[in-house]
Amino acid sequence: MLPKELRAALAAETFSFDAVEPVVVQNSNDKQTIKGLFRLHDGNEVEAVLMQHYGERNTVCISSQSGCAYACAFCSTGQAGFTRHLTPTEIFDQARYFARHLAAQGRKITNVVFMGMGEPFHNYAAVMDAVRLLNDANGFGLGHRHITISTVGVVPQIDQFADEGVQVNLAISLHAATDDVRSSIMPVNHKWPIAQLMDAVGRYIEKTNRKVFFEYVMLDGVNDRPEDAEALAKLMLGSLYHVNIIPYNSTPDAKLGATGDQRIRAFSAILEAKGIACTVRIPMGRDIAAACGQLRAETQPRAHAS
Ligand code: SAH
Repeated sequence: MLPKELRAALAAETFSFDAVEPVVVQNSNDKQTIKGLFRLHDGNEVEAVLMQHYGERNTVCISSQSGCAYACAFCSTGQAGFTRHLTPTEIFDQARYFARHLAAQGRKITNVVFMGMGEPFHNYAAVMDAVRLLNDANGFGLGHRHITISTVGVVPQIDQFADEGVQVNLAISLHAATDDVRSSIMPVNHKWPIAQLMDAVGRYIEKTNRKVFFEYVMLDGVNDRPEDAEALAKLMLGSLYHVNIIPYNSTPDAKLGATGDQRIRAFSAILEAKGIACTVRIPMGRDIAAACGQLRAETQPRAHAS
């Protein structure tokens, strides 16, 4: 938790020091998505994105670490490796940057998602402090229910989060329904295989009675077959289990391809036929490399060359 005086200073309009400095800011063609690459005091860089859902919702996606230690095969950040944890202020200030941008148009941030670079549950204390800042009346006064933390599936921290007593939403990056497939794209599955992960989710639901969102990025020929949908359906144990199907933003470095729209529809139809709650996420900002770690991956070679 930050000292009271610092929080008061953060709230003051004249306060100008930022823990993150924008280096590149890109607008998508439809103006709905703005992506920022921010530099930290030590030269490390992180990304954050503002997604404006036609004036209805303004969601900011923020980073919790510079880089990531979990090395998911489909993720640019994971492929680049881990640099360091962010401080609570470095996390909060990404949102503050976009809050100022919105304030200039008389608008506000309505939702914050920890779906930028890094693994929030690998930097647990700082992320929870950043949540407190977002929630604090001197910060944004953003309700817990409007904040979502997405994890690769760090089991001990799922249990810790269950005991936290906050109404922050939990999203689990599942991405496969069998250990063979999940281990082949997410090394974390060797440490906490699906059964252990789903047990932790079960304990979380038992304690909190809150809905859990399962992210499932559609990878061509890897996890998108009808039998994958069948296996996924078996893991979803009731109305508090919600699948978010994510069309893959292919990255230049990955050998993986995106599942086409028709196959995505077929996959979600299988889940729906089995009564599983499921949403297909609408991709935003594809023209500005808005997927996790993509902007940094694009700009860094240039930065090194100059
Ligand atoms: N470490 C956290 C937050 C990561 S980013 C986690 O793993 O949940 C948020 C989501 O975006 C994760 O589900 C991640 O797997 C997904 N993601 C990463 N790269 C992607 C890409 N290129 N296309 C679509 N989704 C991607």
